Amino acid sequence: MRTRIVKACGDPVLDGGIMEQAARIIKEGGLVAIPTETVYGLAGDALNPDSARKIYEAKGRPSDNPLIVHIAREEDMDAIAKDIPDEAYAAAERFWPGPLTMVLYKKDIVPYETTGGLDTVAVRFPENPIAREFILAAGGYIAAPSANLSGRPSCTTAEHCRQDLDGRIEMIIDGGEVGIGLESTIVDMTVKPPCILRQGYINEAMLQEVLRDVGSDDAGHEVPDDSRPKAPGMKYRHYSPKGKLCIVQGERDSVISEINRLIREKESRGYRAAVITSDEDKDRYDIKAPVMVIGSLDDEDMIAHRLFSILRELDDMGIEYIYSESFDTPRLGKAIMDRMLRASGNNVIRI
Ligand code: AMP
Ligand code: MG
Repeated sequence: MRTRIVKACGDPVLDGGIMEQAARIIKEGGLVAIPTETVYGLAGDALNPDSARKIYEAKGRPSDNPLIVHIAREEDMDAIAKDIPDEAYAAAERFWPGPLTMVLYKKDIVPYETTGGLDTVAVRFPENPIAREFILAAGGYIAAPSANLSGRPSCTTAEHCRQDLDGRIEMIIDGGEVGIGLESTIVDMTVKPPCILRQGYINEAMLQEVLRDVGSDDAGHEVPDDSRPKAPGMKYRHYSPKGKLCIVQGERDSVISEINRLIREKESRGYRAAVITSDEDKDRYDIKAPVMVIGSLDDEDMIAHRLFSILRELDDMGIEYIYSESFDTPRLGKAIMDRMLRASGNNVIRI
């Protein structure tokens, strides 16, 4: 299959022709990678079981790992979900369009192929104007997991999508680099109190502004493969670079000297190693190996934004061992460290 890559700008008039073509692909059961404000998504018709099967196949993703259904009008939530609690409407009012996904009981119209066999459906209304135009043109209900091959870091540019999906899908809509760079926050609204299944840009404190009480399911990291966790996708290895990632935690000076030592040791044995660090610490590495700067510790949005693309850059450079500092920043630290821990397969050195 030939994958067409087309640029869009978010202006409905200028993008009209592209959206028409993309919508036709979706209605015929094909797949299109699209930009959203979080990461690129791999879009198919959420109400067509064949499209869901194709998404799993294109990503190489296990079919019991449910897909998020994207809508572009708040009222469309009622068409695919039932028994929706008042708190879900309140959260939609406050955070949609935006990086919040809510798990609700599904209506029959949503096929089990889309929900990975579950009676619940995950719903999100993205903010990105290209995504919204596309969803409306393509019928209103779009299943879209992240557009990476299963297990790889999520895509924050159209080029990342091309690297992973060229020849596997019909079209990639290039809307430039995404804004946030981390996937949406997922909240299970079928339990009381609602429970955060995946950390994201919308953190617990923000959710507490509208949900009186909210729990979190941080145990997700070490779920055995045969269990049925609440967020089924979380049991799979995620976001991994090809090189072996290790996170070094502890007091700042000790972390830096330990990473310096580990990298020298790997290099002396002929391996290619690199470090992921902050703007503040970048000059404290006394090594020949690449020093990848993720951003300033004062700019956590940048750290979140850069994380997946740095992991992919390190792959392109053929790095075999990656040592990273922790970025446990005040607002996004939980989401950033969740992705880093999964990417490393919980490979942490505490000193
Ligand atoms: P991705 O599409 O790659 O951002 O991942 C979507 C993730 O959303 C899945 O891996 C699940 O963890 C979660 N998810 C989707 N639908 C449901 C659902 N019905 N119940 C619980 N978690 C869900
Ligand atoms: Mg994903």
